[in-house]
Amino acid sequence: MRNYIIGIDIGGTSIKFGKFDLEGNLLDKWTIPTNKENLGESILTDIARSISENQALNTIKGIGFGVPGPVKHDVVISCVNLGWGRKHIVDEFKAIINDPEIKVKAANDATIAAAGEMYKGIARGYKNVALFTIGTGVGGGIIVNKALVEGVNGVGGELGHIPVDFKHNFKCNCGNLGCLETVASATGIINIAKENLRKSKAKSLLRRFNTFSAKKVIDYAKEGDFIAKKSLEESMRYLAQAMAAITYTIDPEIIVIGGGVSNAGPYIIELIEKYYYEMVKPFITQANFAIATLGNEAGIYGCCYLVK
Ligand SMILES: [Zn+2]
Repeated sequence: MRNYIIGIDIGGTSIKFGKFDLEGNLLDKWTIPTNKENLGESILTDIARSISENQALNTIKGIGFGVPGPVKHDVVISCVNLGWGRKHIVDEFKAIINDPEIKVKAANDATIAAAGEMYKGIARGYKNVALFTIGTGVGGGIIVNKALVEGVNGVGGELGHIPVDFKHNFKCNCGNLGCLETVASATGIINIAKENLRKSKAKSLLRRFNTFSAKKVIDYAKEGDFIAKKSLEESMRYLAQAMAAITYTIDPEIIVIGGGVSNAGPYIIELIEKYYYEMVKPFITQANFAIATLGNEAGIYGCCYLVK
């Protein structure tokens, strides 16, 4: 009997595995390190070995992958993090496990996380979801009518690269200037705070440090520190701008915010709402914002959903 689904979230430092029953209940989870040597050539064989060590292949119904890069129709377009260029991940993995009865699927990791939140998290019961994952970078996932949006080039839902800023010219990891990620990620929050400290003479608790985290900016903003608050508001205004753009594109039922910065909770949502409603008020006065609830397990849940 094939009673299990394996969800696999491939990250730059570790690979997360989740074993699910057919109802999507998480039964077991484990991780292995990501071996990026030789352009990540051993990653898929490492994964296959780890699965067979934990679960007999002939009990597995499906395996889903989340990959940190654009994916289209089960083909990775590029994945700098892992050293991969264009890669037929599903075909290659099927050839390694050599069990034609196992269904294998792959999609972008942030899109997968959005699917996970829709399947078992805060967006349960909704069919149209936008997810912004605000961590070191900004990830995104878009779901329309329960379908994961990939687009013709696999970059549908790459919300972190929406151009929003023409003022600072911070450089993005993608090579462009002014992407959402450069001004609204944890890194972006720090970028803006540092810029404001440089440009202003106002007192700030942040001046005590040469380097500081986004959490510090958020904590001091909550305490009313002028520069910290102004900087965080600026970052959240850019985020609201991207959210308004998504609203005018797919008008989702729920906008979910995940990643490390979302730990700041309702305070972040209040700041976003302040600017968001300014941008959409001719049409919308009540939107549905929520903090993600599955944390870093959203990916493996989404992989399970993808296979189902
Ligand atoms: Zn970018």
